[in-house]
Amino acid sequence: MKDLAFRVGQGIDVHRYGPGDHVVLCGVNIPYEQGIVAHSDGDVALHALADALLGALALGDIGQHFPDHDERWRGADSRMLLRHVMSMVSERGWQVGNADLTILAERPKIAPWIDSMKQNLAEDLRVATDVTSVKATTTERLGFVGRGEGIAVWASVLLYRQETKPN
Ligand code: MG
Repeated sequence: MKDLAFRVGQGIDVHRYGPGDHVVLCGVNIPYEQGIVAHSDGDVALHALADALLGALALGDIGQHFPDHDERWRGADSRMLLRHVMSMVSERGWQVGNADLTILAERPKIAPWIDSMKQNLAEDLRVATDVTSVKATTTERLGFVGRGEGIAVWASVLLYRQETKPN
């Protein structure tokens, strides 16, 4: 197994809406009539992505590395968390090939913010923006997302060994 040149990872996160006036997605502040209930800044997209990175290398999950009860992460900027996970990835000799995120939300509208999100992802993952993908969809008013109770994000990443960069 350790000779594989590629590793794939996936992550999912869900957060509930609560009192507030904005949501943070991929490090972008999006004005909204509610906020996200969370120990950190509630960046559900970066949490899903961090879990995908950890998953690709079978390093557990962000709950283990950044526990809810740890005061160091109260209100934390999830981009710092993501960069910490990326340092774990690169220390082990891996780089990100691409990352693909799907945000499920009835509201707010995500489209106007996608370019900024991709830019943040590219910086934190140390890649070009053309390998960071952020997509958004509603759930046709079905389920907790459709009722506007929260946001869910799916993330997938491909990692490659640093010495075997694909063409
Ligand atoms: Mg989370």
